[in-house]
Amino acid sequence: MMIYLDGDFVPKQEAVVSVFDHGFLYGDGIFEGIRCYGGNVFCLHEHIVRLYESAKSILLDIPMTPQEMEDAVVETVRVNQMADGYIRLVVSRGVGDLGLDPRNCKRATVIIIAEQLKLFPAEFYERGLAIVTVPTRRNVPDALNPKIKSLNYLNNILVKIEAARAGVHEALMLNQDGYVCEGSGDNIFLVKNGKVVTPPTYLGALEGITRNIVIEMCEKLGIPCEEKPFTRHDVYVADEVFLTGTAAEMIPVIDVDGRGIGNGEPGAMTRRLTEEFRAYTHVRGTKVPGLVPE
Ligand code: PLP
Repeated sequence: MMIYLDGDFVPKQEAVVSVFDHGFLYGDGIFEGIRCYGGNVFCLHEHIVRLYESAKSILLDIPMTPQEMEDAVVETVRVNQMADGYIRLVVSRGVGDLGLDPRNCKRATVIIIAEQLKLFPAEFYERGLAIVTVPTRRNVPDALNPKIKSLNYLNNILVKIEAARAGVHEALMLNQDGYVCEGSGDNIFLVKNGKVVTPPTYLGALEGITRNIVIEMCEKLGIPCEEKPFTRHDVYVADEVFLTGTAAEMIPVIDVDGRGIGNGEPGAMTRRLTEEFRAYTHVRGTKVPGLVPE
């Protein structure tokens, strides 16, 4: 496996960064998780736009243009001949001294890893996932804005730990007002009386690219879909629940805090949207030369 590190491709064992890198010392940086399906880098452009928006928000100067970054991602996939897999793109503030001041970091570190990632065991995509809600709250937009995909994932890691302690694979975060925000690494959708609903991101959620694709698919299919705040109660009494994310893809949820959702099986709307989503993954994106059949 070859890793892109600051413009070079280096073998995995040699792909190391300094202990003085502020990404390591302070979590000072941003990242993207991107997926490749059949040689198609799914929604690459949207991920690069979000990366540069995150960078702008934290005043991080990425030492390459968005187009150069897109090309570097495609080249990483090509070099690794990874038609299907997961791409992790990390930009940290770079190497500095032990002080917080980012002005001591002269150049951002850019890393692109093309790997395999299985977030949830395969059977849950058919059977559905049990999840819980946890005490850890989502940070709200007037603190570190959840729209910034920063390297500060401690909140989300605590959620994963709390989920594991409850014996499940994923959990939902609420905000301080008790509104449902999102999972540790995925957005949430409900289906109620034929309507698809997801929380507005201002409540405290990443504006997921998969989330946006689902909203777009609903529009295209004429399925009513809205962004609306909801509480745990609304989740418990929903007809269907599903999660979306680059790593998670679309996954049905059949149990939340011990309350069975709908009839306890993945619902018809979730199945329909999942089918549509799978078709999208091979068309919406950037083709990697040599990996897509002509
Ligand atoms: N929410 C959080 C906290 C995430 O880390 C992710 C993953 O990127 C998502 C939601 C889903 O976003 P996307 O669909 O862009 O992967």
